[in-house]
Amino acid sequence: MTQLNETHDPRLRSFVPVAPDSDFPIQNLPFGIFRRGGSGSATRARAGVAIGDLVVDLSALAAAGLFDGTPCAGEVRGENGIFSRADLNGFSALGPDAWSAVRKTLSELLRDDNPRLRDDATLRASAMIPVADCELLLPVTIGDYTDFYSSKEHATNVGIMFRGKENALMPNWLHLPVAYHGRASSVVVSGTPVRRPSGQTKADDAEAPSFGPSRLLDFELEMGVFVGPGSTLGDPIAVDDAHRHLFGMVLVNDWSARDIQKWEYQPLGPFLAKNFATTISPWIVTMEALEPFRKQGPTQDPEPLPYLRSQGDWSYDIVLDVLVRTPKMEEPARISRSNFRYMYWNVCQQLAHHSVTGCNMRPGDLLASGTISGPEKEERGSLLELTWRGSEPLQLPSGEERKFLLDGDELILRGWAQGDGYRVGFGECRGVVEPARTSV
Ligand code: MN
Repeated sequence: MTQLNETHDPRLRSFVPVAPDSDFPIQNLPFGIFRRGGSGSATRARAGVAIGDLVVDLSALAAAGLFDGTPCAGEVRGENGIFSRADLNGFSALGPDAWSAVRKTLSELLRDDNPRLRDDATLRASAMIPVADCELLLPVTIGDYTDFYSSKEHATNVGIMFRGKENALMPNWLHLPVAYHGRASSVVVSGTPVRRPSGQTKADDAEAPSFGPSRLLDFELEMGVFVGPGSTLGDPIAVDDAHRHLFGMVLVNDWSARDIQKWEYQPLGPFLAKNFATTISPWIVTMEALEPFRKQGPTQDPEPLPYLRSQGDWSYDIVLDVLVRTPKMEEPARISRSNFRYMYWNVCQQLAHHSVTGCNMRPGDLLASGTISGPEKEERGSLLELTWRGSEPLQLPSGEERKFLLDGDELILRGWAQGDGYRVGFGECRGVVEPARTSV
């Protein structure tokens, strides 16, 4: 099991200026893929780490020999070293010992009392780039994307709306982490516009379905965990080994077309209502960075079957905000605040369940949590729930009203774990809704 170590010390400070409410202090050190602005070979995508408002180019540190003492020394060398590639799949496949060694090295290099990088003006100029001069890209090549449904509050709310109070939770829900296999090709990085999908819908009182732009476009507040080392086809990952396969987490917005969903979802679950876009935040916050915020999850009753019984605490205290900005608004307004710790099924149980059949997992697979709603009304993680299917529209500070998202609306997710005098944050997961195509 991961342990707290010197990289988690709340007193650590970097020589890089970091605002107290920055998402990226020296205790975080999230990994991403970026491309430098400008022209020439410097525009090649490579791996970076965020600190304050800077991106640290890991390929430049590798070229300077700064990872030579780590277990990845052989992996980072050369043109095709793991930090010189356009995705983090290679690094995430190496596993916890390598991740931890790189984190320790970076933490030491960025400390305010270490002159090695601090006083090397040449290396700093080439390896530390303002994030404003960088384009942040998808951090991994996602082979498979699975979306769980692991918030009891969300499943209950949706169940009440669609089936009534008596049948809110399906009989299987408390026994296994329900999920569906999603679409990896349309996972996009924060900032990518999202086009309103068109599809088949059928009003309750209509005789036949019709085709057109979705009128009930929604967001879903979720988090996702990236698989690191994979598994062999036929070999399940035991629930108590699962944490060694989990690299880190991002914010996820599982955009959803509720009217398409309602007509298509039975009997096999979501399909076109979900496959047009899923937005993720660009920085992967490692499980090690989140270690100080690991907490006990909700009590599970009935007790899960043995293969799902995880030892220890595998929930995380991560504050999650949802904001919306309509074209009439200068500043975004918060419409929900939830927390990752509300999740009923934890990430280790999700991975164990996913692989229990022998389904092989691969580095870069994305497991999303499902909508994360809390017990209170203002903690609901979708418009479907916040407006109770449109029957209680949201009142925005601009005087506008929203039941579902309109063209031009921007939806923003933020998340962070609050430490003593610092926060380990996720940055933002944002996207603007573009009008549907006029013809199909
Ligand atoms: Mn979802």
